[in-house]
Amino acid sequence: ADQNLTPDLVVIGGGPGGYVASIRAAQLGLSVVCVEFDKTLGGTCVNVGCIPSKALLSSSEHYEFALKHAKDHGIEIAGVQLNLQQMLKRKDDVVAQNTKGVEFLFKKNKVTWAKGVGTLKAGNVVEVKALDGALTTYRPKHVILATGSVPMQLPFLPFDEERVLSNVGALRIPEVPKHLIVIGGGVIGLELGSVWRRLGAKVTVIEYAPTILPGNDDDITKEAHKIFTKQGLEIHTATKVTGGGRNGSMVTIEAEKDGQAMRFEADYVLVSIGRKPSLTGVDAAALGLALGTRGEIVVDAQMRTSLPNVFAIGDAVGGKLLAHKAEEEGVIAAEVIAGHHAKMHYHNMPGVVYTWPEIATAGLTEAEARATGKAIKVGKFPFSANGRARSMASTEGFVKFVTDAATDEILGCHMIGPNVSDLLSEIVLAMEYRGTADDVGETVHSHPTLSEVVKEAALAALGRAIHI
Ligand code: FAD
Repeated sequence: ADQNLTPDLVVIGGGPGGYVASIRAAQLGLSVVCVEFDKTLGGTCVNVGCIPSKALLSSSEHYEFALKHAKDHGIEIAGVQLNLQQMLKRKDDVVAQNTKGVEFLFKKNKVTWAKGVGTLKAGNVVEVKALDGALTTYRPKHVILATGSVPMQLPFLPFDEERVLSNVGALRIPEVPKHLIVIGGGVIGLELGSVWRRLGAKVTVIEYAPTILPGNDDDITKEAHKIFTKQGLEIHTATKVTGGGRNGSMVTIEAEKDGQAMRFEADYVLVSIGRKPSLTGVDAAALGLALGTRGEIVVDAQMRTSLPNVFAIGDAVGGKLLAHKAEEEGVIAAEVIAGHHAKMHYHNMPGVVYTWPEIATAGLTEAEARATGKAIKVGKFPFSANGRARSMASTEGFVKFVTDAATDEILGCHMIGPNVSDLLSEIVLAMEYRGTADDVGETVHSHPTLSEVVKEAALAALGRAIHI
């Protein structure tokens, strides 16, 4: 009854982009309504993305450790058994802690959650249709579109989330598949493929590009391919899926490599070929909202769309589909709306693959740096030469720097190895300050830590690594 129908800001979408924008705007004194139709806040990331996938990655790592590696440490565990129901329940509990956490933050910051489907109308009017059909009309000063993205499907293989899975179904398969086919060897395919492989499934990855994780540094994709193959993933690169379908409890996939036809059969298939912007409730053509070639909402560096006082952030604006990118864009949009001089930039956007070993990268790949025409230097240091990595029995991988030969400025950093998701942050900070290989190489790093690999790789780029 006491709802504010003319708030300063209505945010459509309660994912990492939308909820962070809402909180930041509220911190800056704006009255904020955030519209979300899902029964929980947090969007793709918290409900069916980052968080549940990391929960299952963590559990399946423990399982594989107990099964295969504990005995190397002198730990004999008899009768290790998988309780998949418990593993999936724990994942759901982790998700619930996070969605409730966002709800708590909304209350704390006095952000109103309007539960329902939001529709943007002309003149920045936002209509919200609740589950019971009730309509509420908001007339805010500003609107942020944070409607996220949805998985792309293959025309001949529509998702049923029983056998033909998107990320949603692949996070809750009720049994360990005998054979899981993963179409698309990107981040999502490799992470979820690794989960089910560790739990006992045969996993076949089919990738259209010449390498898995296309777009990454060549040394990284080569090393990752080698390690994942050794772990038991069957990887087919440069392979085009041409057809397929479900037949009862089986799925057939037809593919082609070098002109040769291939055929795969499995009980489950995960289609992880990419995601596209979701424009639920946003009729771009009718509103005159400018879209890019991939259907993404076009924005400037302050996250403004082509419509006055309408901003857009997150997966809906394209670029790298990452939660931390969405969050940062949300902060920028909120600050611009509050009258600050904020501006988004993407130079050092980190990207992580949470397999084991992990992969973490920021900045230019070696090939991209060479293509700029600048003289560059490359420094590499392996985890196998690091005492801490040896004591953890996790010696696969390396850290690689790409630097400007004239100034030693760090242009890119590419890591594959244990805990590199956390190791990368130091380098992203260095790059934000336009730091050099000397800055990192001459900084004291505690011994024995994995971070010494980062220091040594920076020294390697200067031609003076010590431990190799
Ligand atoms: P979303 O999170 O998609 O949120 C959009 C929200 O808007 C949704 O909740 C939707 O219900 C709501 N919505 C849409 N339209 C309307 C409407 N009209 N009215 C009301 N509500 C609406 N990124 C990482 O950085 N790290 C990871 O480890 C990672 N892992 C991932 C794993 C998987 C399996 C997947 C699928 C993605 C992963 N991502 C990861 C990507 C990450 O989830 C997205 O980049 C992020 O969620 C984008 O945030 P967003 O706010 O733009 O959109």
